[in-house]
This record gives sequence, C-alpha cells and structure tokens, in this order.
Amino acid sequence: MTDRKTLTTTAGAPVPDNQNSWTAGERGPVLLQDYQLIEKLAHQNRERIPERVVHAKGWGAYGTLKITGDISRYTNAKVLQPGAVTPMLARFSTVAGEMGAADAERDVRGFALKFYTEDGNWDLVGNNTPVFFVRDPYKFPDFIHTQKRHPKTNMRSPTAMWDFWSLSPESLHQVTILMSDRGLPVSPQHMNGYGSHTFSLWNDAGERFWVKFHFKTRQGHKTYTNEQADQVIARTRESYQEALFGGIDNGEFPQWTVQIQIMPELDAEKTSYNPFDLTKVWPHAEYPPIEIGVMELNRNPENYFAEIENAAFSPSNIVPGIGYSPDKMLQARVFSYADAHRHRLGTHYETIPVNQPRCPVHHYHRDGQMNVFGGIKTGNPDAYYEPNSVNGPFEQKSAQEPPLRISGDADRYNHRIGNDDYVQVRALFNLFDDGEKARLFANIAAAMGGIPQEIADRQIAHFDKVHPDYGAGVRHAREVLSNREPAISVTPNTPQQVGA
Ligand code: NDP
Repeated sequence: MTDRKTLTTTAGAPVPDNQNSWTAGERGPVLLQDYQLIEKLAHQNRERIPERVVHAKGWGAYGTLKITGDISRYTNAKVLQPGAVTPMLARFSTVAGEMGAADAERDVRGFALKFYTEDGNWDLVGNNTPVFFVRDPYKFPDFIHTQKRHPKTNMRSPTAMWDFWSLSPESLHQVTILMSDRGLPVSPQHMNGYGSHTFSLWNDAGERFWVKFHFKTRQGHKTYTNEQADQVIARTRESYQEALFGGIDNGEFPQWTVQIQIMPELDAEKTSYNPFDLTKVWPHAEYPPIEIGVMELNRNPENYFAEIENAAFSPSNIVPGIGYSPDKMLQARVFSYADAHRHRLGTHYETIPVNQPRCPVHHYHRDGQMNVFGGIKTGNPDAYYEPNSVNGPFEQKSAQEPPLRISGDADRYNHRIGNDDYVQVRALFNLFDDGEKARLFANIAAAMGGIPQEIADRQIAHFDKVHPDYGAGVRHAREVLSNREPAISVTPNTPQQVGA
C-alpha cells in the first residue's frame, strides 16, 4: 500500500507511533513531551459542542427548490421567480428530546430549510404543524421548561406539561395536532412542513402581501400509533436517520409540493382571527393554497457533525422580496435563533461551510474568536469602516422593503381577551374520522397518566368547549386506562414518554 497517507499531528508533522505512548523506561511513566498523545486526548475532550436547547436530535439532507408557478405579481424575490432552481439544505428534528433521544417519539417535528439564493441565504425554520403552543414569546421559555426535565427529579413531567397547557388555552390547537395521528410520523419523508409564521412578500411596485408557506409531502402521510412506535424504539432509536439517510442512499429522493397562501396587506385588519397569531391557521376556504413548486432532497451529507450539527438555521435570514410580519413569536425568533448559534457555534457561525452563502459576502464585521474567513471582506484593506471614500461596500436601497401600513399604539396587549381559541380546533376535530378521534382520546389519556385530577379536569374543560364529544371521549379513555391492569407495575408519578 505505497499510496497510504502519513498520519500527522494537526500541525502537519508525521506521527511516529500511534500505538505506544512515550514512556521513561519500559514500565512507564508517560512523558509530558508525548505531545501527540496529549493532543489526541485534548481533542477528544473537546468533541462535543453545546447541544441545542430545543431541536437537539436532527436528520438532514441537501436538495433543490424548483419554482414552477408564477407569483411574480406578489414578490420580486429571485428565489421565487418562475423556473428558479435553488440549492438547499433541510434539517428535521424532534423538539424536546436530547441528542440521544429515540426518533420515534410523539413530538412536534422541526422542519428547517436553508435556501442558498443568489441574494443570500433564506431560512424557513418551521415545523410539521401549521401552528404552535404559544403566541407570545414571553411564554416560550416557560413552555419549553415544561417539556424538558424537572430540575429536581431530572425526569420529564406530564404534570408540568398539562398544568401549563391547561392554563394556556391557546395551546389547544397544537396539543390536538400533537396527540392526533400526525403527532407521530413514521419518517421525515412522510410529513408536511409549514413555515408556520406569517411572512410577507413584496413586489417591484412596493405592494406587500402576507404569506404562509406549506410543504405537502408527496410520499403521503404515514404515522405510527403509540404501540407501533414502542416497538420501533425497542428495535432502534435511529429510525428517522435510517429512513432519511438510507432512502437517499438508495436513490429514493423525497419530494414536497410547495404551496403558499396569500393575503392582501390590509386584509389583516379585517379577518375574524389575528393572522399573525401563531396558534391560528388561515382557513383554506378564505385563502386558498396556490401551488408554486417542488422541493426535493437528493444528497446526503458527507459528515454529520460538520454539515448537520453545524447547520445554523434562523428566521432572521430573509432575502429581498421576502419580509417578516408583526407575528410576535417570529420577531422573538429573529433574535433568539441567531443568538443561539452565536453561543453554540461562535460569532462567525455563518462562515462554517454549510452555513456559508453561495453569493459574495461583503461586510465590516471583523476579528473575534475563530475568524477564519480571511481575505478582505470589503475588497479593499483601507475600507474597514463605513462611510468611507475608498469605494467600500455600500448599502443597496432597492433591498428596502415597503413601509408597514398597519400600526397601533405600543402596549402589552392581552391576546387571551376576545380571542377564540376553540373554533379552529373544532374545525380540525371535525376533520378526524371515528378511528382518529378514538386514537386522539387514547393518546391524551395515556399522556395524562399520573397527573393530579384538578389539572386533568381543567384541561378536559377546554376539550368540552371545543366539542362535547372531545371532552367525553377523553374522560372515557381515562376510565378505560385506569381500569386496565398495568402490564408492568410502575411507581406512581413515573413520567410517561410523551413530549412536544
Ligand atoms: P380544510 O378542510 O381545507 O383543511 C386544511 C388542512 O387540514 C388540509 O391542508 C389538510 O392537510 C389538513 N388535514 C386534513 N386532515 C387532517 C388530519 N386528520 N390531521 C391534521 N390535519 C389534517 O380546512 P381549513 O383550512 O379550514 O382548516 C381546518 C383545520 O385544519 C384547521 O383548523 C387546522 O387545525 C387544520 N389545518 C389547517 C391548515 C391550513 O393552513 N388551513 C393546515 C393544516 C391543518 P393535507 O392536505 O396534508 O391532508
């Protein structure tokens, strides 16, 4: 094997022996000067980076977004023009479980997309559900705490989950989706994705339209029951990685039909629901989905850590022609996600190859730890401040989005007042057939196992308000469960493996 490469230190020097440490005498001890050994051990100590607080366990692949429809009247975003083909990266995830958690757990799935457009990276960081548990960012850390481990027991706490949910009726919509069949997809390929937040599109005439993005699976919806998932987890904890990586490796490239819903800017003041409320959908009858293209995943990463663990998605990444909206949760995430990556990956996380834009990047940020981008980011060594008279990079006014035409007084508005948190859940409940309703009731009853009766009563009162059959169904399922002989005896208050 003459072409075998020489093992080196990270500084490039040949390593003479990778089997035996350098000792004083045959029986030791090891010499401090065995630098190759020290470097090897020191590197191992530093292999882990901070785990994502949410969405720690993920699976990802590369692909393309092809635009087949014509929505140029709504947006001048180059990535959304007819015929545009844009390379992209997707990362799917569970929310609550840590990096070693089993994939086939009942949980919301993250559906994060990064499009490498010629105008910079556009990230759409959504879920497999169109809504979320809370509508105000003040509640986000509290909600996530209920999904994570109890600070004393270090176990998941169904009591905390249902206590929070039952005191937060805006969560009912997402709780119902989570506990329904679609709360436990078989693989990333067999679920829809939703941008979830309302964003905006704007065109050359300076008109703004509100927009929702949807990605409809072309593989069909496939879901597990709790019992089926238990069997899968007993066999493998990596069922999503197996399905996504294995599928693409076999040449099976999953596709999603891309749809948008469009709302004229001033309609936002007329709808019966707040169109910027993340706990609400826009009914299709009012704002019909428009098909605009197809997303396909067709290439596995070469190195999971470098390309998927290091992938940094943030809703702050938008491109000209696409804008934010007044959604409070979106605004908080615009700060929070980029901040999480600065903490997790470092100040220069956008220079990590998987995050690098595929277009020229010019800015005046400099220095700091791991500044590895080198070169002169302004094209001129004298252009290290702005404004300057040495032709340094300059703002592009055409990238400015039109002014927001809706406004109001600055206040802390209480959206629990006058907000109907039941009507859209009822619309969803009415879509379920009898079998799906029965599984919804059973899933909720199982997830409520061991919680105090007063919390269960408070939550079931919300189900009653959605539909009398909903509350009655959950009550009945709880009775059935409590009458059943447990197959394995468990100590009271043992947390169930449920999550969100
Ligand atoms: P529609 O009858 O047009 O249904 C909207 C969506 O419901 C469809 O896109 C469909 O997704 C989805 N859906 C159908 N069956 C189920 C199910 N068993 N579990 C979860 N989702 C399902 O009515 P509306 O637009 O008025 O929405 C009714 C309710 O549907 C909403 O309150 C919301 O809970 C839910 N929903 C609405 C969406 C929206 O953007 N309007 C998006 C997703 C859900 P698919 O095409 O994939 O089958």
